[in-house]
Amino acid sequence: MTERVTPENPLSTEQGPEALRMPAPEEVKVTTWRVACDGDDAAGLGHPRVWLKISPDTGFVDCGYCDKRFVIDRDNLHDDH
Ligand SMILES: [Zn+2]
Repeated sequence: MTERVTPENPLSTEQGPEALRMPAPEEVKVTTWRVACDGDDAAGLGHPRVWLKISPDTGFVDCGYCDKRFVIDRDNLHDDH
């Protein structure tokens, strides 16, 4: 006489992926293979200046300090060869 009500969709537990959302790393287009990064002083996120070399294979490099991503702009490339 017990009537069990089974949910139509037992897998709909609505686990929101909100926790996985991270701010996208800032992307900067550059026209040289070597770039200097010293963070974002204006936002109080400065760091010692470092020189980064973009890999021609990937076309970008990430700053180890502030995770800023420098993407080569091949259309406006300054080739100093
Ligand atoms: Zn940086």
